[in-house]
Amino acid sequence: MVTGKEINVKDFDVVVVGSGFSGAIFARELAEKHNKKVLVVEKRLHIAGNMYDEYNEHNILVQKYGPHFFNTDKAWIIEYLRQYCELVPHAVSGKSVIDGNYVQLPYNFQTIQDLYDLKAAEKLYSKLRNEFKGEERVSIFSLLSCDDEDIKSFAEDLYQKAFKPYTMKQWDLTTEQIDRSVLNRVKFALNFDKRYLNKDFQFLPKYGFTKLFENLLNHRNIEIKCNCDALNHISIQDNIALFDNEIIDCIVYTGPIDELFNREFGILPYRSLEFTFENIKTSTHVLPADFVSFPQDYSFTRKTEYRRFNYERKGQIYSTVVAEHPMEYNPDSNKGNIPYYPTIASGNLETLRKYQEKAETIKKLMLVGRLAEYKYFNMDLIIENAFNKLDIYTKKFI
Ligand code: UDP
Repeated sequence: MVTGKEINVKDFDVVVVGSGFSGAIFARELAEKHNKKVLVVEKRLHIAGNMYDEYNEHNILVQKYGPHFFNTDKAWIIEYLRQYCELVPHAVSGKSVIDGNYVQLPYNFQTIQDLYDLKAAEKLYSKLRNEFKGEERVSIFSLLSCDDEDIKSFAEDLYQKAFKPYTMKQWDLTTEQIDRSVLNRVKFALNFDKRYLNKDFQFLPKYGFTKLFENLLNHRNIEIKCNCDALNHISIQDNIALFDNEIIDCIVYTGPIDELFNREFGILPYRSLEFTFENIKTSTHVLPADFVSFPQDYSFTRKTEYRRFNYERKGQIYSTVVAEHPMEYNPDSNKGNIPYYPTIASGNLETLRKYQEKAETIKKLMLVGRLAEYKYFNMDLIIENAFNKLDIYTKKFI
């Protein structure tokens, strides 16, 4: 239940900071399986973190903090989510604009045809099939390191026109500076598979993500306090984490790790985004796919058409398209003040290690999730990670 009352932490066993996936799962599991009284404190005016969605003035369910969709190979995650929401199958589709033309995303055999003539494309298919026998998707770096001159030259073209400029726009770093795992998220498909991701399970919650979070957090042992910045309440004394100067079982913190420790070892950079929304009156689609990536031109990286994700309500006259403008995260600015992505690069991982070592020494504290662990988790891995951390929690605190 969301409370407007003053809170007294003495009424609770656990405080969970943040109501995104990690926080919501922790709260629910501790409340339900371990009968713990849980207080969830949320800085924003609403729950669900960056997964939050709401209907706009045109009756379109809009994900306010950028596009999200479930994709996983793990059946148990889907089963788990089905307890809290109805899921609709939806394999996300993409296009990319290269040299002013739409090409297939995921980059695949169709992309080769979109970029070159058919004869040249067909020659490349057999070379690629031969080179990567038995593989479905490979990284751009695997393509670049091929000995074959034709494959290499295609890979170089794609790298220069798509990966390099997109990465610079998204991270303000070169492809050499950002960790390779980031670019490896977007694989080249060695076939005509149009699904952006080749995962077994791809779904959207029919009634939106906020509903899912409401259901997750709807438990008699959970109270939610919105508009409450936990950093004004947490202190550390004698290596124990306190909330309003009280010792409780544990504080489960899901915010940025460096901010918890007043950035004493320096800033850990996170990447932020600003979103611009456009409403276009149309009976058809605005974009040629669910989303379009713009590696080369403009200040935005991606556009997504939300009406394509709306399964509950139909017949909307307008279509809403969101554009994502990357920028540096700065908690004190009026722009870019929400952290979305940890910037995985070697210098930052050094700084992270110092914060992690410090966190290890503090009792009654657990750090969980994308911001607190500084990991570029996908949604399914966030859920899996929350359960792994719950195992650790129960061994340590229960
Ligand atoms: N990327 C790219 N070209 C694209 C899409 C992605 O070079 O058209 C690279 C870029 O470095 C980006 C990374 O792949 O930051 C991860 O992209 P993904 O779509 O996984 O980002 P997310 O959906 O998490 O925002």
